[in-house]
Amino acid sequence: MANRAFNFNAGPAALPLEVLEKVKEQFVEFENNGMSLMEMSHRGPVYEKVHFEAEALIRELLAIPEGYKVLFIQGGASTQFAMIPLNLVQPGKTAAYVATGSWATKAIQEAKLFGETSIAASSEGDSYKRIPAISELNYASDVAYLHLTSNETIEGTQWKEFPDTGDVTLIGDMSSDILCRPIDVSKFGVIYAGAQKNLGPSGVTIVIIREDLIAKPSVAVPTMLRYDTHAKADSLYNTPPTFAIYMMNEVLKWVKENGGAAGMEVRNQEKANLIYDVIDSSNGFYRGFADADSRSLMNVTFTLASEELEKQFIKESEARGFVGLKGHRSVGGLRASIYNAVPLESVQALVSLMKDFQNKNS
Ligand SMILES: *Cc1c(COP(=O)(O)O)cnc(C)c1O
Repeated sequence: MANRAFNFNAGPAALPLEVLEKVKEQFVEFENNGMSLMEMSHRGPVYEKVHFEAEALIRELLAIPEGYKVLFIQGGASTQFAMIPLNLVQPGKTAAYVATGSWATKAIQEAKLFGETSIAASSEGDSYKRIPAISELNYASDVAYLHLTSNETIEGTQWKEFPDTGDVTLIGDMSSDILCRPIDVSKFGVIYAGAQKNLGPSGVTIVIIREDLIAKPSVAVPTMLRYDTHAKADSLYNTPPTFAIYMMNEVLKWVKENGGAAGMEVRNQEKANLIYDVIDSSNGFYRGFADADSRSLMNVTFTLASEELEKQFIKESEARGFVGLKGHRSVGGLRASIYNAVPLESVQALVSLMKDFQNKNS
């Protein structure tokens, strides 16, 4: 495709071109069934095969150990901000959160609607430019859980290693970096991620939850917001977002063909290094937002000397076929989201743009 944009959107975001082409071929008629997948019952064997294939691929690619359920839920990661405290905070218990940035803050605000919260560590005083060290974490041993945000999409920071929390359930919002690298799932009680950044289109959220955490909640919780509802029915309690799950399955196959989580990490490290190197060798023309040891592999955030120069950069980028480089309105500056599906060629083109722009404007 000649006119494909250099897509650095933060979410929904770039999908692998190979996947889009394949889905296009299967769009009107899915595997000789006389109809598209979207026109089929979610209770039929054709859709069920796709549904369980996607589940099995998530298990395989993340090396999920025995004893976990993989759920497909709607409502985005934002709905998980409520489902987690609703299902997992017993009356009288406190839920602990690590305040690392915009998304962690939203999770905390939502949890406050349902019970007591505490902050195990915060980088608010440093404008959320860094992920707190594991040694900074401070929470009571009887908290309901400890929640962290593995990648702060807006600030461009990412946890490099995860704490061992022993008997305390660790929960991770991995919406913007799931499958960008191998992780040790066994450290977590719950991992959740909206699909639209690293797994596929919008419309489905995956929840990986340890089976002992799935119980009837101790308070009245709407049926659709209970993990046990979805776990008992293999995420087929009601109509799931069949097309989103089908597309996600195709993206997961693409991840597998490209080396799985370890293969993604190599690609992602190479892409991120290219951009961070331009920033670091620009003599201050480009300024990285995140502290070097907290830099994200997925969202590279940086600023220029003035807002005017930033606007000029965006304008020039758009003229050259780039999309999505404007930083989130809450932090400003520029942001390049380089999720798994963003090709190396897009990053190489960005690096050329950055170098040209610096030469012309310094
Ligand atoms: C995008 C994002 C969310 C919100 O996802 P929705 O699916 O839009 O609700 C939550 N957490 C993180 C880290 C995100 O990047």
